[in-house]
Amino acid sequence: MIDLRSDTVTKPTPAMREAMAQAEVGDDVFGEDPTVNALEARLAKLFGHEAGLFCPSGTQTNQIAINVHTRPGDEVICEEGAHIYRYEGGGTMATSGCSVKFVPADRGRFKAEDVAAAVNAPDAAYLARTRLVVVENSSNRGGGSIWDLAEVSRIKQVCDHHGLALHLDGARIFNAMAEDGRSPQEWGAPFDSISICLSKGLGAPVGSVLVGSSEFIQQARRVRKRLGGGMRQAGILAAGCMYALDHHVVRLRDDHAKAKMLAAALHEVPAVESVLPVQTNIVVFNLANKLKAAKFLNKLRAEGVLGSEFGPSTVRMVTHMDVDVAGMKDAIAILKKIDV
Ligand SMILES: *Cc1c(COP(=O)(O)O)cnc(C)c1O
Repeated sequence: MIDLRSDTVTKPTPAMREAMAQAEVGDDVFGEDPTVNALEARLAKLFGHEAGLFCPSGTQTNQIAINVHTRPGDEVICEEGAHIYRYEGGGTMATSGCSVKFVPADRGRFKAEDVAAAVNAPDAAYLARTRLVVVENSSNRGGGSIWDLAEVSRIKQVCDHHGLALHLDGARIFNAMAEDGRSPQEWGAPFDSISICLSKGLGAPVGSVLVGSSEFIQQARRVRKRLGGGMRQAGILAAGCMYALDHHVVRLRDDHAKAKMLAAALHEVPAVESVLPVQTNIVVFNLANKLKAAKFLNKLRAEGVLGSEFGPSTVRMVTHMDVDVAGMKDAIAILKKIDV
């Protein structure tokens, strides 16, 4: 099977497993796991923040951030495709008791002026208190689209003006940075908190890190425990993440090249009507004649290629380190002769 459902399907390489096996560990709930501590400090420093918190998933890092930034009854501004709204089990609403307000977006990216217009008047007692803005870079439902840092800086000004916190769902921030050439310091600057996944394109089996101020992370640590995310000898996992940072960041552009190769080939597949512009490792395409994505994907599965349903007639494929160029060429050959 050529599995292009997600970049989360990657398995740890033998060298990564070796690094994990050799990890120095301790009880992380006691703050005594040296490998976890090193990973948290490393990512915090890299993004110019004071502290970090290692968590089992990006859903948890996002949800902890939302919980610390808000109070029940507050409102969170995001766009309708946002992971924090769609794919986190209703956590924003259930765990933190917040409503969400959508702003219009172009493939996941919105404008400062639309954020400003979405802020509720603070003196209107009948409105929810607007408290937090969440940006997702790269944008998953936007087809791996990347943000312009200048627009984020303008959003930051709006947040400062209204006393709002700004959180980055940076599940794939390393993919975005591999393309825009900006540094982690630059991306770290406008945000109060950032969620970073090591288990996506970076290839670690488990783990996300939340970074922010020392005070924020202190509060986040309690929420992590409350949500059951306090792990013990988690250094085994953190070592995989450290290995990913050392060895897999540099290869993300290979995944982007494979995604562009796939997108170019899809233009020649009769069943495909249109393909979203490709900037990173995500390829989203629409099928012609309202062909059902489920039907298309079943056919494809029978031929040995996996993708995921992203809408009634929309498919997502994600490139990653476990499918090399030869594998992509095989997938493309199968796509080109698929008959639905
Ligand atoms: C994958 C992902 C997350 C976190 O997902 P987990 O599976 O919980 O680690 C968060 N945001 C985006 C945009 C993602 O793609």
